[in-house]
This record gives sequence, C-alpha cells and structure tokens, in this order.
Amino acid sequence: MQLIYNKIFLKHKTISHPECPERLAYFDENLKETKLENGEKYLNLIYNKNYIQSIKNTSKNEANLDTDTYTNKFSYEAACFAVAAAIKVSEKNNFSLGRPPGHHATKNKAMGFCLFNNIAIAAQNLVNKGKKVFIIDFDGHHGNGTQDIFYGTDKVLYLSTHQFPAYPGTGWIKEIGTDKGKGFTINIPMPTFTSDDLFLEILNKIIPIIKNEFNPDIVGVSAGFDAHHSDPLLQLNLTTNAFYEVGKLLNKNFKNIFVSLEGGYNLNYIHKNIIDFVNGIDNKNQSYKEESTKSDNDVANDFKLRISILKEKLKPYLKL
Ligand SMILES: [Zn+2]
Repeated sequence: MQLIYNKIFLKHKTISHPECPERLAYFDENLKETKLENGEKYLNLIYNKNYIQSIKNTSKNEANLDTDTYTNKFSYEAACFAVAAAIKVSEKNNFSLGRPPGHHATKNKAMGFCLFNNIAIAAQNLVNKGKKVFIIDFDGHHGNGTQDIFYGTDKVLYLSTHQFPAYPGTGWIKEIGTDKGKGFTINIPMPTFTSDDLFLEILNKIIPIIKNEFNPDIVGVSAGFDAHHSDPLLQLNLTTNAFYEVGKLLNKNFKNIFVSLEGGYNLNYIHKNIIDFVNGIDNKNQSYKEESTKSDNDVANDFKLRISILKEKLKPYLKL
C-alpha cells in the first residue's frame, strides 16, 4: 500500500491548532510527492453549489466555520486536493495523507476540523460505478458526517468505533440507519479507557460477519489515530499494536482496501501509528511495537453491556 502525499496538504493551517501541518512532518521529510489533480470536480458527488461556494468564500476570507473549524486562504484548494487524493487511493488500494480531514463534514455542514468529507466522496464515486462499499472508521471520534451522508442507503455499510461520550455527541448504539439503510450503520461506542483487548475482540468478531453478510466490493478506511493512548484530545487507550492488528484483520478479510487519513494529534505518534497500520495491511512486521493494553473490569463490564444492546438492536439485520 502506497502513501499518497503532496505538499499542498501543508498549506491549510492556522495559529496553534491540533489539526496542523506538523502532523505530516515525518512524511514531508521521508516521502516523495505524488502528482494530484484538483478534485473540485468531484465535490458535486455529495455537495450542492451553495455549500461549495460557502466553503470557497469562507476560505477566501480566512474565517472560521465554527469554533474549532478554521480556514485560511489555501484551505479550499487543499481540501479539493485532499478529495482528489481520496478518489485516487480508492482506485488503487492506497492510503491518502490528505488534510484537512473529512469524516465530521455532513452534506451541509463543515465541522470538527472537516470541510469536505473525503471518504464519503470517494465512496459515492464507487457506488455510482455499481460497487458496494464498506466504510470502517476507527478514528476515536464518531464520523457523524459519513453516517449522515449514507444513513438511508444499503449500498454503503458504515461501521464506527469511537469514544462515547465525546465530541460530536453522536454515534450511540441505536443509530443504525433509516429506511433502506436500516442495519447498514453500526456504531460501537467505547467507554473511556477502552484498551487494545476489547477493541480488537469486537472487530475480530464483527468484520468477518460483515464480510460474509454484506460482501463488499471494496473497503474504505477512515483512519484516525486519536484513539491512541498518547492522544491529547481523547481518553482511549489503544497502542500501535491495535492499529497494526486492524490492518492485518482487514488484509485477511478483504482484497480491495483504500484509506483516508482522519484525526490523530500526538505529533510523536501519528506517523508510527500510520506506518504500523500499513505494515498490518501489507502483512509486514510491525515497526513500532508497544506493550499491549488491557481494559480494567469497569470498562470491560460497560463495554460488554453496550455490545449486548447493539446485538439486540441489530438482530433483524445482522447476526452478531
Ligand atoms: Zn478524531
């Protein structure tokens, strides 16, 4: 799996913000740039003209879209190239290091550091070509935008693991889709301090079930690394090993996998987590092994209770 990087991803920046260009510093030093087209022409797969124009104007004025979602005069262009990178990796089973990230952006609202939903645009492009897409989002926050965009469809199955309660407040067990999309949204809300053991146990269980029952043509990964124990924004307890193991699990179950970067804000760890996740997908040895973490009893009991409710809720649609 190749990491797709372009210096334009560094141009979206502001003063002192966790979603900063330094997140990509390791790759800027160690990777060659990949030529990209401008992805503006793909925006209409999800967004209407008014929304696109509003992002363009906000960027021109270097204004904020909400209290934590900033723009500068390069943000619109950077966001369009991040979309192009997501489309490109979806065609060749690669990993986009595009930023700004995307999974909080809904059909009509930029939020949570996200302007356009990169993974959703790439997934919709595949759906329009007749493909069934499984999106797995293991960013430590719920991908409310991606959920919102595909809530009523059976062509995209959206699975999210995330800390709950936490920003943005969505992603509870009962949110399972609507109309034709019922059973095609699966949320695994994790209590604070959930560790490697429970995270991997549930994914090891659910991913083969999704493979057999949904049988996707392609898997899109919203890869955020803020569930790592070092992350400043969340209180989850995963190690590099968890991301490595998820990579291996996906590789074992699926042939076509592409990845779009979401969060991950510890500047000493983000590249290690990315590299070990890709090592897992590529079936290579792990580069940055840590000591695996185990959830304590209170966390485990809460987690198991949540899974039992989810099981009940999904019964008519998926046998967990
Ligand atoms: Zn996040």
